[in-house]
Amino acid sequence: SSYYKILEENRQLYNQVQDLKGSIRVYCRVRPFLHGQSDRESTVDHIGENGNIMIVHPHKQGKDARKIFSFNKVFGTNATQQQIYADTQSLIRSVLDGFNVCIFAYGQTGSGKTYTMSGPDFTAEDTWGVNYRALQDLFQISKSRINMIEYEIRVQMIEIYNEQVRDLLVVDGSSRRLDIRNNSQLNGLNVPDACLVHVNCTKHVLDLMGVGLKNRAVGATALNERSSRSHSILTIHVQGKELITGSILRGCLHLVDLAGSERVDKSEAVGERLKEAQHINKSLSALGDVISALAQKNAHIPYRNSKLTQVLQDSLGGQAKTLMFVHINPESNAIGETISTLKFAERVASIELGAARA
Ligand code: ADP
Repeated sequence: SSYYKILEENRQLYNQVQDLKGSIRVYCRVRPFLHGQSDRESTVDHIGENGNIMIVHPHKQGKDARKIFSFNKVFGTNATQQQIYADTQSLIRSVLDGFNVCIFAYGQTGSGKTYTMSGPDFTAEDTWGVNYRALQDLFQISKSRINMIEYEIRVQMIEIYNEQVRDLLVVDGSSRRLDIRNNSQLNGLNVPDACLVHVNCTKHVLDLMGVGLKNRAVGATALNERSSRSHSILTIHVQGKELITGSILRGCLHLVDLAGSERVDKSEAVGERLKEAQHINKSLSALGDVISALAQKNAHIPYRNSKLTQVLQDSLGGQAKTLMFVHINPESNAIGETISTLKFAERVASIELGAARA
């Protein structure tokens, strides 16, 4: 009977994921006010049904002051980490059926990207972000299928800083620069020389993340500064062997905490800061360009324009599924970044990859 239970569970999952295949979904999350500020100052006027959000410009009057943006879903300031994960779960579980999935966190620095992906405190399980929940979920489901499929789950953690790829899981703290190479044997893993660590329990994952965080801080004046200017990619690679047929399936989940999307005042940024800003701009716009080229069925998809899109090449487009969490900071002095974040996101959201390839 457990066999039928699994089949039934699989069928439900299958139906859930079919409509997501090849498409991009965009969820918007509004960060709460911090330090007891009043939310009367909020630039979020209203969150409607059906994924609408109305923004009010603090310095404009009349009908120009309000603008509506539409996404697949909008999470207000009360949304919990559990609720966020519940709406992400079916996408993540599809990795066990051999799909490739990319989940991005986009937004200006301080808008809550790391909160969504990792959470504020990994020692408090109820505050865990998508990363830890995903791994825990994948362990659990793979164990429930143990009579049918033997799974192996492995993780990589890399960082892209100034268009250079670094391994975050090396234990000796050395910061080897890595090359990007396609490797069809390892579906979705295009940085084959980065450590690929076999994991099978949450405790092990927490230890590894600790190594990753420590490595991320190397060379940074302050952890927050460095991490806001680099993209970090946690890749979960799943390989399953069907026990009856012996066939192998592979799926890959990339959880990407993007660099802060804020525009840097060109007249003020100089030297290293200017270089960082240029690299970030380049890779975030390359990501937008790839998604839009896929939607328009262009013969040429400009993956090669950034390291970020090269690393994720075989997990964007095709049968792969993409989810972008766009984060906004509701404070009135962030209005400029809020509008530009929502415009970027809307450009990405209006695109139906599924239709393009049908
Ligand atoms: P980013 O990664 O975009 O730079 P963070 O995730 O570091 O931003 O968030 C900035 C601050 O806001 C942190 O102190 C974080 O704990 C807090 N924060 C962000 N999102 C939330 C949320 N949904 N609920 C409570 N606190 C949040």
